Amino acid sequence: MIKVKEHCGVFASMGEGSVHIVYEGLKLLQHRGEESAGISFLNGENLATIKGLGLVDEAIGDKIGNVFSNVSIGHVRYSTTGKTTIDEAQPLSNDKISIAFNGTITNYFQFGNFSTDTEFILNFMAKYSDPLEGLSNFMASADGAYSMVIMWKDGRIFAVRDPHGFRPLVLGRINNNLVISSEDSAIIQMGGKVIRDVKPGEVVVFENDSFLSYQLQRQDIAVCSFEYIYFSRSDTSIDGYPVYDARIRLGEVLAEKHPANAQIVVPVPDSARPIALGFSRKTGIPIEEGLVRTLNSKRSFILPSDRSRVLTLEEKFGVVSSAIKGKDIALIDDSIVRGNTMRRIIQLLRRAGAEKIHVRIGSPMIRYPCYMGIDFPRRDQLIAFEKDESKIAKSIGADSVKYLTKDEMVEAIGRKDLCVACFTGKYPLKGNYNLGKLEVTFRR
Ligand code: SF4
Repeated sequence: MIKVKEHCGVFASMGEGSVHIVYEGLKLLQHRGEESAGISFLNGENLATIKGLGLVDEAIGDKIGNVFSNVSIGHVRYSTTGKTTIDEAQPLSNDKISIAFNGTITNYFQFGNFSTDTEFILNFMAKYSDPLEGLSNFMASADGAYSMVIMWKDGRIFAVRDPHGFRPLVLGRINNNLVISSEDSAIIQMGGKVIRDVKPGEVVVFENDSFLSYQLQRQDIAVCSFEYIYFSRSDTSIDGYPVYDARIRLGEVLAEKHPANAQIVVPVPDSARPIALGFSRKTGIPIEEGLVRTLNSKRSFILPSDRSRVLTLEEKFGVVSSAIKGKDIALIDDSIVRGNTMRRIIQLLRRAGAEKIHVRIGSPMIRYPCYMGIDFPRRDQLIAFEKDESKIAKSIGADSVKYLTKDEMVEAIGRKDLCVACFTGKYPLKGNYNLGKLEVTFRR
């Protein structure tokens, strides 16, 4: 289920027909951002950009038909800083470079009066004639999460993953083109081959149809847990760990540690489906698709206010009353942020005749803000802020609520080098975070 602001997706290609390869790649990364889309390409000796608001098709679909270039980068956006305007849409360019960026530079305001972190990166990099020197200094200075592609006016593309590797970034080939994608599933779906993940702290440079690698920094790896829980497509693998397998295991561990006395398992579509499948397999309780997500529904997280967020929920789910009427339900979701969506779903299920509703969540309680690009609400708006499971159950109208613990989640995902800061308040950044006052201070 979609409840938090998503971040962004990036795609880059070098070779014949690169603009259209990037366009198709962006469509396959659409789940990572629906606010705007754009492509920058090398047009002779100049950089050119086409971008627009909305989904990839509506934003740029009718503008790229006759555009051809061998060097292109692209972006789908959900804003984590700045506003939803065409000016904020990416890629952002000056006369020397163009940038498509996924993440958040937490300390960008320390470096001047920039309206977004992307603008900061653009300014920072433009000072250097040697891009690698610029990127090396950037990695040493910037705090935060970033997977990005930078196109230089000389026709080179630089793919950069931050030293902690918060966000995924993958290198591959489609036909004879070198490509970079936020997720490997996009490359595979286009019939391409994945070469490997870009490593944390690495810069991969596309130059004359070949690539070079530079390991600029090494720090403790901290891949965002939510990439596995919810953000990435289920058919994506990150650093060799399949997202689908992680979600199945989240459900299995949930069933082992937090079983429910229920007759049916009902997933909240769509991202909780594999978690519900794991839960069902482990418990033997059959799955029923008791909730239907309607295709024409607005995604509630796109709307700016709490009020409109709640108002869209009725459009988002239908209930299959014949499947759930008179039944005790294990209702499975991947996470709860504010609780508005879950509260409404429970109302809908009860109205349709459900008996007991036991909510089981395939992640720990979200209790802290994210400074690495995920726009969770203020801490006091999180439902798990100062509430335990029984208070949360009461608040959302469930008969019981159980979450995975942090350790159970880490065991289920199967890798230890994860960021878990929104569950624990321990941030893997260089900065020093004062959580009580919701302020950020830095050592530098
Ligand atoms: S704080 Fe949470 S959402 Fe943010 S990067 Fe870490 S795990 Fe992901």
